[in-house]
Amino acid sequence: MALIETTVYCNGCGVEITWAPLYLNKQHYCCQDCYDGRPCECGSRLEDEDEHRSTQAAIGSGYPS
Ligand SMILES: [Zn+2]
Ligand SMILES: [Zn+2]
Repeated sequence: MALIETTVYCNGCGVEITWAPLYLNKQHYCCQDCYDGRPCECGSRLEDEDEHRSTQAAIGSGYPS
């Protein structure tokens, strides 16, 4: 009956926290920036990969008709 494997999401930016989160008022944050209410870059790395893909898709949408 252990709850250790529960997936934790940051209450600031919403990134999935796969490391040790910071706790504040029973909420968890991915890093000191989110803890302090500032924007952070923990999730932007993953989003960057998605943006690269969508950018390529946008370029490829210019098919000749
Ligand atoms: Zn965060
Ligand atoms: Zn963060």
